[in-house]
Amino acid sequence: MAVPKRRTSPMKRDQRRAHHDKVTAPNVAPCPNCGDVMLPHRACPACGHYKGRQVIKGNVDELE
Ligand SMILES: [Zn+2]
Repeated sequence: MAVPKRRTSPMKRDQRRAHHDKVTAPNVAPCPNCGDVMLPHRACPACGHYKGRQVIKGNVDELE
């Protein structure tokens, strides 16, 4: 069985682990209906629209 020739240095070990558990900002896009920021591929939390129609009850009372 192959074994490592050298012990991984603390710097290389930490560089490898630095790629995990990174906190990144969520990808947001403006809603085409109300213009509020929303997550892509999800119904808008402000107006409840998705793909040009109302799918859930939103806060904006512009229809009905
Ligand atoms: Zn919206």
